[in-house]
Amino acid sequence: MKIQVLISEDKIKKRVKELGKQISQDYKDKNLLLLGVLKGSFIFLADLMRTLEIPVQCDFLKVSSYIGDKSSGKIKIDFLPPVKKKDVLIIEDIIDTGLTINSIKKEIEKQKPRSLKLCAFFDKPTRREQEVKIDYLGFEIPNKFVVGYGLDYEEKFRSLSYVGTIGK
Ligand code: 5GP
Repeated sequence: MKIQVLISEDKIKKRVKELGKQISQDYKDKNLLLLGVLKGSFIFLADLMRTLEIPVQCDFLKVSSYIGDKSSGKIKIDFLPPVKKKDVLIIEDIIDTGLTINSIKKEIEKQKPRSLKLCAFFDKPTRREQEVKIDYLGFEIPNKFVVGYGLDYEEKFRSLSYVGTIGK
């Protein structure tokens, strides 16, 4: 399978640094917890975390199966770490319909974090079914299935340092 580059490694690195700078300013004197959604966000989280100039903790949650049918958007969070008194910044790979992230946010809000915001590296706004507030965004991309930089197709391509689309 051939991958066509959509966003190069250089562009990704530059954008991650910019996001890190902004987050470092906004979360100065806060109790920042980067909460990654597995698995797709783990590479972005690791890169972003190393650009931060402030104290930071990280943890992860895993979303497993949908409860009922997929279109209901109801997801099951396998493990949600303690978030009380933390300024939680959810780290997501990509926002598509918005159903997953909105369900995750609802679950986290029940745990009463001090604050809750969202950082997503990619956004495909054309497929949105529910409104999502993305506080920090890497790139808006067209409605194409992308792989690389943590994102997979059948568990392949996560290790690519760029993001691309699958061609023939
Ligand atoms: P949503 O609930 O917003 O429709 O779905 C978000 C999730 O679907 C993402 O966290 C990601 O796991 C997956 N997803 C959406 N679009 C893509 C894509 O283009 N490539 C890959 N690899 N996963 C995607």
